[in-house]
Amino acid sequence: MIIRARAILTMDGSPIENGAVAISGNRIIDVGSFPEVSARHSEQEIVDLGEQALLPGFINAHCHLDYTCLRGQIPPQKSFADWIRAINAEKARLSAQDYVASIAEGFAEAKRFGTTTIANLTAFPELIARIDPLIRTWWFAELIDVRSPERVNELVDLAVKSLKPAANWGLAPHAPFTASKDLYRRCEEVARCENVLLTTHLAESREEMSMFRDGAGPLYEFMKEIGRDMSDCGDQTPLDRFLGTVRDSSTALRSARNDKKAVRNDAGWIVAHLNELAESDFELLETFRGKFHVVHSPRSHDYFAHSAFAFERLRDLGFNLCLGTDSLASNENLSLFAEMRAFRRGEPAVSPKEVLEMVTVNGGRALGRPQILGRIRANYFADLIAIPCRGITDVFEEILAFDEPVHWIMLNGKT
Ligand SMILES: [Zn+2]
Repeated sequence: MIIRARAILTMDGSPIENGAVAISGNRIIDVGSFPEVSARHSEQEIVDLGEQALLPGFINAHCHLDYTCLRGQIPPQKSFADWIRAINAEKARLSAQDYVASIAEGFAEAKRFGTTTIANLTAFPELIARIDPLIRTWWFAELIDVRSPERVNELVDLAVKSLKPAANWGLAPHAPFTASKDLYRRCEEVARCENVLLTTHLAESREEMSMFRDGAGPLYEFMKEIGRDMSDCGDQTPLDRFLGTVRDSSTALRSARNDKKAVRNDAGWIVAHLNELAESDFELLETFRGKFHVVHSPRSHDYFAHSAFAFERLRDLGFNLCLGTDSLASNENLSLFAEMRAFRRGEPAVSPKEVLEMVTVNGGRALGRPQILGRIRANYFADLIAIPCRGITDVFEEILAFDEPVHWIMLNGKT
């Protein structure tokens, strides 16, 4: 099949005017100007999308579809610890069936807004088998061992059993304040053996910083109250705590190289947030230049009124920066168009093309699939969306301004 459009945004160089993409099965096999592509594949059926721009489907690099049903339910709280209390109270009212319905609703909404790939954290991996994901999905089991740190292996093994039937999966020790060092290490071991991905929340709130650095504050008090071992608090930043954990475990793994399977996955952690960084953290990040991926969620960030996201400094340190919606407990919808606009309001100097890269190319890199996800290029997945374009302004500006459901979506070669 050949798809013709007024403009093709391949994410490699400038848009192709009067362009075309040839598709075979679930892959792109050719892209270029319409006359060239149609001559090279003359026997193929042609679908003309007319006055539209064709671009890669979007990649949401961080979200929790579990909480789609909590949209608008939790007003901003005066502390992050209070917000955790509030969401825990909401969660206590939900049944497994509610979560299945919530996740299904989330997939449908994400797809409506042109998202074709999603990194979805779930606290209920046992529900995965009951859900049709609708779009390309990396399922991450969100793991918390704060109440049972002695059961790390059992917790991880149980999650892995539910995750394995999924096409793409990974592990998500929740955050340094809810996941023990042992849990992080066990997740790293399993990820390396199984060649799967890792993600975590890090340095999200000011309270997480004061908990680890000062051994004080509302989150410190809350976690202490629920019985967390607080002996790692008082003399380090959240980033210190995280990098200390993963550095220790990679050293341990290097010394255990006789396990041949243990070295395949070097894709790097997908780190959500990274809002609260001390100056000493930036010095530390110098030594980890580009070693992991960072997901920023601008609207959730605004909802919580976190400190400004250090976009330029992190970009200059070579980190791969992506966008995610986070959950609807702290955001109003699953539109990455709206997420790009919110990002741009805070960073008006960043070009619309670079913003678009954060939901396409950069997402593909974070998911360890830079050769098949996030561009329109031969051999990439045929995950495409079309957006009306009038050519009045810059086409990338038009994409960012788009504010409606996406009417034409191709996923895995199928519309
Ligand atoms: Zn999150």
